[in-house]
Amino acid sequence: MIIDQKKAKKILLEGGNVIIPTETVYGLAGSINCPNSIETIYRLKNRPKQNPLIIHFANLKQVLECVEDVPESFYRLAKFFWPGPLTMVLQGRNNLNHAITAGLKTVAVRIPAHLETLKLIEETGPLVAPSANISGRPSSTKIKHIENDFGKNFPILEGTEPICGLESTIIGWIDNKWVFLRHGVISLQEIERFLGENINHSDLQICPGTKFRHYSPEAKIFYSNEMFFKADAIVGYENRSYLSKKPFYSLGRDDDPKKIAYRLFDLFRRFDEDCLKNVWIDIKLPNEGLYITIIERILKASYTDSSNFESNVL
Ligand code: AMP
Ligand code: MG
Repeated sequence: MIIDQKKAKKILLEGGNVIIPTETVYGLAGSINCPNSIETIYRLKNRPKQNPLIIHFANLKQVLECVEDVPESFYRLAKFFWPGPLTMVLQGRNNLNHAITAGLKTVAVRIPAHLETLKLIEETGPLVAPSANISGRPSSTKIKHIENDFGKNFPILEGTEPICGLESTIIGWIDNKWVFLRHGVISLQEIERFLGENINHSDLQICPGTKFRHYSPEAKIFYSNEMFFKADAIVGYENRSYLSKKPFYSLGRDDDPKKIAYRLFDLFRRFDEDCLKNVWIDIKLPNEGLYITIIERILKASYTDSSNFESNVL
């Protein structure tokens, strides 16, 4: 159910939940000052309690009320990438609700690039907002995805649909250096180029959420040559030929990673609508930029073991 700014503000300040659009995916929001609404987010999503939440802010002043001991490079990154799809994990202030941080000393923060949502957060104050989907399922990028997971009556703030279709990139300021925590809309190379230094991947302990299985449709996703012949449908790129009579689902052209990213989760959900059991996806994509995020999302969603991700990237 689409609601306006005024109604959304009222629900959030009274401790309720509203789904908000962002430029990445839809988020299931609650106020950081309402423990009940945070509790409800974990329950509605069936999200593991050890998986902390990202706080969304309208401006830098709000951010600085929740974090401390930030490096000078934080301000530079914020100025360049915000509002936008970069999440930074920083030292959190002591007064933050433990349910947000899963008891960690760090907190994940971001200013989304979305007009209506920024306007709302200016009024309500910071909002936690994990993706608006049941945990483990693909993130919601369209209203119908939300309705599918939470029903037609769940309040959704009016505003432009997400334009990226994938989640934010996460980096963390840990032990006085930046580490890479999650692939996302902004590529690792872009951040490295901006900072003028290499950033290492962190181990899983720091970013608990990355260890959970994610983004999966009910259909089983495969990418091995062998499964090409066994799957019910082929997912690939319209400028490649697959020599198969099976139903074909297009991710767009292979030279348009933004479109591939935008279509991916919507396609995942269509597999289920179309009652597919086994789907083969072409993951032969360049090992660079946004393609790396796309491949990582497919591997995380796929039925086969994704632990050897790097070696599967072509
Ligand atoms: P999402 O599920 O897209 O809302 O992203 C949340 C992810 O951000 C979590 O799964 C963690 O990996 C990461 N994250 C959130 N809060 C923290 C934190 N305090 N410290 C480290 N990582 C965090
Ligand atoms: Mg999510």
